[in-house]
Amino acid sequence: MRIRFLIILTFMFMSSGFAMAQTYSIVIKGGHVIDPKNNIDAIMDIATIDDKIALVAKNIDPKLGKRVINAKGLYVTPGIIDAHVHLFYGTKMDQGLMNGPSSVQADAFSFRSGVTTMVDVGSSGFRTFPDFKRQSIDASQTRILALINIAGEGMRGGPFEQTTKDMIPRNAVEVAINYPDIVVGFKLAHYSGHEWGPTDSVVAAGKMANLPVMIDFGGAEPPLPLEELLLKHLRPGDIYTHQYAYFPDVREPVIDEKGKVKPFVLEAQKKGIKFDVGHGGGSFRWKAAVPSVQQGFLPDAISTDLHSGSMNAGMKDMANVMSKFLALGMPLQDVINRSTWLPALMFNRPDLGSLTVGTEADIALFSISKGNFGFIDISGEKLKGTEKLIAEMTIRAGKIVWDLNGLAAPEFKQ
Ligand SMILES: [Zn+2]
Repeated sequence: MRIRFLIILTFMFMSSGFAMAQTYSIVIKGGHVIDPKNNIDAIMDIATIDDKIALVAKNIDPKLGKRVINAKGLYVTPGIIDAHVHLFYGTKMDQGLMNGPSSVQADAFSFRSGVTTMVDVGSSGFRTFPDFKRQSIDASQTRILALINIAGEGMRGGPFEQTTKDMIPRNAVEVAINYPDIVVGFKLAHYSGHEWGPTDSVVAAGKMANLPVMIDFGGAEPPLPLEELLLKHLRPGDIYTHQYAYFPDVREPVIDEKGKVKPFVLEAQKKGIKFDVGHGGGSFRWKAAVPSVQQGFLPDAISTDLHSGSMNAGMKDMANVMSKFLALGMPLQDVINRSTWLPALMFNRPDLGSLTVGTEADIALFSISKGNFGFIDISGEKLKGTEKLIAEMTIRAGKIVWDLNGLAAPEFKQ
């Protein structure tokens, strides 16, 4: 079936090729394409026309490309989706992640890691979303999607994230209705009270808008029961972030004292609850990640929780977090799947996260460096690894936005 498809494609290509010189904007030649959605894991060529993927085939004539990229020895993947970041940077110095200095600028971190889509998870609430859209989303080349915080102000810190009377589901839903291309769900974060009201408020917004919610499970002392959250309050499709965090005094971890993944966690994942890495500056411990991966408790989304407190610590960037999963023994194909297609599905955006013909041409080219590497977690402990993903080129909507070694550049001649 597949062979016949390729023959037809080749025939179509040959019959049209002579008449149409330089049909394609970019032809990427000879790379190892990993496109989990379309079940591709092979040496293939890719062609784009303007901002769209035009053809994926075994052999595309380079003469048909206005630009030709030699991708031999590189991996070619869909543009990476970072499912958990904070991008509402601004100058309000006391406002943390909301229009403050703890958030970061998307384009400064995305493309150099192969990332073309970032999901800001709750930095803005219904009241502050317009500012976020104007100064971050509209000002970035990176595609930015957003979860709206159930707290009206967003992640302004302190009492602003604890004020239940400012958690108004219908107001959050209104933003989702007004911006359906941007808003992909809702977020509850950092709530440290002992009642379930805020969780149920964010889920109410999710139900009204038919969108998922993401829970950063606060910091209640003693902690609220995780089983109750996962099996009683959340719906299939809702997301639990910081899955490999380990600070048992204030949050129930997914593993017990012996490192065994709790059965109800696996049950929740089976029932459709999604789990997101959300590495961050305090939420990724080898102590939790190593036994979890060994026991098959894997992320639906590998993600950074990028902000000023994580960017220069153990997290670093998306390529580094993806490389951590290689170090954990996860096959590359699986790492790519959990950084492209699965997060696209998690946010109900099947138009993203693949190299399907006709979709927007978001493409990443990676090399893998071999050597002796150390990967640090949030406690400062190191896991050794031998492979590191390096983003060589990133294409966003058909435009080359990152070219580490001048793959697309003409050579200097004196
Ligand atoms: Zn976060």
